[in-house]
Amino acid sequence: MGDKGARSRELCRKFCVYYKPGKNEDLSCLGFLVAEALFAKRGYPVFSQGAGRAADDEELLVETVCLRCPFHPGDCDYILKEGDAPPCGGFLALSALLRTETVTMDEIRDVLDRVF
Ligand code: SF4
Repeated sequence: MGDKGARSRELCRKFCVYYKPGKNEDLSCLGFLVAEALFAKRGYPVFSQGAGRAADDEELLVETVCLRCPFHPGDCDYILKEGDAPPCGGFLALSALLRTETVTMDEIRDVLDRVF
């Protein structure tokens, strides 16, 4: 894994409660892949302390990203437990970026349409 990949996985270590280093590193949820594609385009962002979920954006992120994720609906606790389990790190990173207005939902949709 190159520097870019290592930095992207830093996102998983930092945000994802489901991430297990060395296990299934080839399997990526769509939240992570979208975040990685955004970082490739605009550089790895600095996440502020306490960057977290933007409740207002969660429903839209589920509609925009989760419904197209390969882990939806059978393998994602967040979806299976209808929000009573945390989302993946990619989802949380995207939520933090939306909350801080670092990215817009339109940019996320654009990445999805272009790359996936
Ligand atoms: S929260 Fe679940 S369904 Fe949504 S992107 Fe992450 S793994 Fe996929």
